[in-house]
Amino acid sequence: MTAEYKVHGDVAVITLNNPPVNGLGLATRVGIAAGLAKAQLDDKVKAIVITGAGKAFSGGADIKEFGTDKALAEPNLLSVILSCENTSKVTVAAIHSVCMGGGLELALGCHYRVAAPGTKVALPEVKLGLIPGAGGTQRLPRVLGVEHALNMIVSGEPVNAEMLAMAPGQKLFDKLAKSAETVLEEAIELAREKAAAHAKSGESFPLVRNLPCKHPLGDAYFQFARNMVKGMAKGFPAPLKCVDAVEAATKKKFNEGMLFERETFINLMWTPECRALRHLFVAERAASKIADVPEDTPKREIKSVAVIGAGTMGGGIAMNFLNAGIPVKMLELKQEALDKGIGIMRKNYESQVKKGKLKQAKLDERMGMLSTTLSYDGLAEADLVIEAVFEDMGVKEKVFKELDRVMKKGAILASNTSTLDVDKIASFTKRPQDVVGLHFFSPANVMKLLEVVRGKKTGKDVMATVMGVAKKIKKIAVVSGVCDGFIGNRMIEQYSRQAGFLIEEGCTPQQVDKAVEKFGFAMGPFRMGDLAGNDIGWYIRKRRYQEKPNMKYSKTADLLCEMGRFGQKTNAGWYDYIPGKRDAMPSDVVNKMIDDHRAKIGLKARKISDEEIVNRLVLSLVNEAAHILEDGIASKASDIDMVYITGYGFPIPKGGPMHFADQMGLYNVMMAMNSFAKNPNDDASFWEPAPLIKRLVAAGKTFNAAS
Ligand code: NAD
Repeated sequence: MTAEYKVHGDVAVITLNNPPVNGLGLATRVGIAAGLAKAQLDDKVKAIVITGAGKAFSGGADIKEFGTDKALAEPNLLSVILSCENTSKVTVAAIHSVCMGGGLELALGCHYRVAAPGTKVALPEVKLGLIPGAGGTQRLPRVLGVEHALNMIVSGEPVNAEMLAMAPGQKLFDKLAKSAETVLEEAIELAREKAAAHAKSGESFPLVRNLPCKHPLGDAYFQFARNMVKGMAKGFPAPLKCVDAVEAATKKKFNEGMLFERETFINLMWTPECRALRHLFVAERAASKIADVPEDTPKREIKSVAVIGAGTMGGGIAMNFLNAGIPVKMLELKQEALDKGIGIMRKNYESQVKKGKLKQAKLDERMGMLSTTLSYDGLAEADLVIEAVFEDMGVKEKVFKELDRVMKKGAILASNTSTLDVDKIASFTKRPQDVVGLHFFSPANVMKLLEVVRGKKTGKDVMATVMGVAKKIKKIAVVSGVCDGFIGNRMIEQYSRQAGFLIEEGCTPQQVDKAVEKFGFAMGPFRMGDLAGNDIGWYIRKRRYQEKPNMKYSKTADLLCEMGRFGQKTNAGWYDYIPGKRDAMPSDVVNKMIDDHRAKIGLKARKISDEEIVNRLVLSLVNEAAHILEDGIASKASDIDMVYITGYGFPIPKGGPMHFADQMGLYNVMMAMNSFAKNPNDDASFWEPAPLIKRLVAAGKTFNAAS
């Protein structure tokens, strides 16, 4: 059992104890129910207090139980809450730190509630594609008012207890405690007082379910709310269902409202969107864990950072650290380059100030933590140095030799290289255990993804440290082994190759982009190429032609680059652009180039369905990803999903390429690959399903279950 029972004089205290956040899994629910039963039978006990041990009252349901028998197994949360309401002794919730989801629903089932200031209170189920499922939509509007409650339920965002305690007419909290340290003591005191008062008056205990629930504008308000929420829902069904459930609280009897909530909750649970969101919730937490680097691995202290190179990436990387309050020193070869880079950073901050997203004082504080140098000796004392110079092994060699010479012992030496061998870079130093890849994505101050490239000799403490640093600068870190392109770019190369075959066979760039964007990608492959610069892919392909002369490519992308159409930066790429604007306009020149090329290689254009476009592109990611897993470059399928969701605009409702493949069924994935292999214009050898896929199909398993 993960709830403790202790009697303090005449008050029983049930303490949820299921670290880290006292999740309400089956064992915890059994513990609470047992505590309630025990208190009921003990004549000495006059009142019951429910609280949480450690860092939370309760963070809510145990997500890992969702979709399993355990979630509904008795006592389920509804039964536990019902027991709280119906016990013959007064129940008081002593709330502190975190009170979310099922935790808040449990508290709403108690007769009274005492909250510590600073407690984060939320019903975050909507973030998992759900609505609250244990009475949250029916009880919260009764204690907070319909509008306040609906805002919390639809946004899922936490609100501080003291803010809620100030809401006019609120009945959520009976008392705001002095502090988290005294909340239990104050709750016990209130429990005693209330037990005595009820004994004297004979009045029954107050139940939230008995409070009225109305909105003065009735239907008009809910119509308005629906219009607002529809715009924000981004295709997810849950937000509008939150409105339906709260409306039910105002229109139906309590028990009917509860049934409506339950039914809606269960229906949402099996939607693809909810599955994807739940998968990503678990994936995000799993990404921060490295199997052979235990959580208690000692970390190095990172109090200051140096960045080499003040170009596109260096500036963005530096901003991450300044935003987190960590001083940064930047090094460049020339003063002009430093001035230019720093000017861009300042402009970036200034535009945030103009938009009201940043205070001028914060801008000054952040820029005040930035210093510059032209000499490596000026960097010696930094705890972490990140190199973001030109992508050229010779230049990297010079930089790392210098770093090895000057940096203090124990400093971490990181490279932001996107393609180069991190082990080779480490070999330029006498301390390869201190070298790691930190692959930021552009714009580095905005993009969430950080690929942490673990070299053969990278120390475990270095890995533990950089994973911690990533969290501090609010990045989602995913560990990748060393290979060309790491996880994300190695996969995107296959995707781009497929995009090339598709236009050769009859698609226009806009048809491909449209199909992929309809599927939910932020941007199709051709618009993405124009944004990133088509010359980058060209540069990589030229290397590939040397390394892998037999690899099949469509020549169209090279022809485009030979025309100088590098993308937005040249106002011409796969699309035409008006200088200074980013709107992609279909280009007759490009479409003619593609038609001419097709004629030259003797292909007749055929009509390709959106479904084929999407499947060929997404499954090209999947097949390469399966090789990446097999090669040990990624350790879990869910890590690959995190990379694609946070770094490549893969649609969140689809849960990432691996989750998509799992949902499609790996047998169907394999069959689709076999059929693509029969296309004479495609690369049959690429479409040979990766051995991992074949094994999983034979074993009837999914990527996610297997890793
Ligand atoms: P960039 O050309 O914008 O900036 C590079 C900067 O490094 C320039 O300001 C240059 O003056 C400076 N520099 C060059 N040699 C130097 C040296 N020896 N000492 C000090 N400074 C030196 O390039 P970028 O786009 O910022 O890329 C930097 C690195 O980041 C590359 O390794 C690249 O592969 C990687 N990267 C780039 C992107 C991207 O989208 N641009 C994304 C991820 C990773």
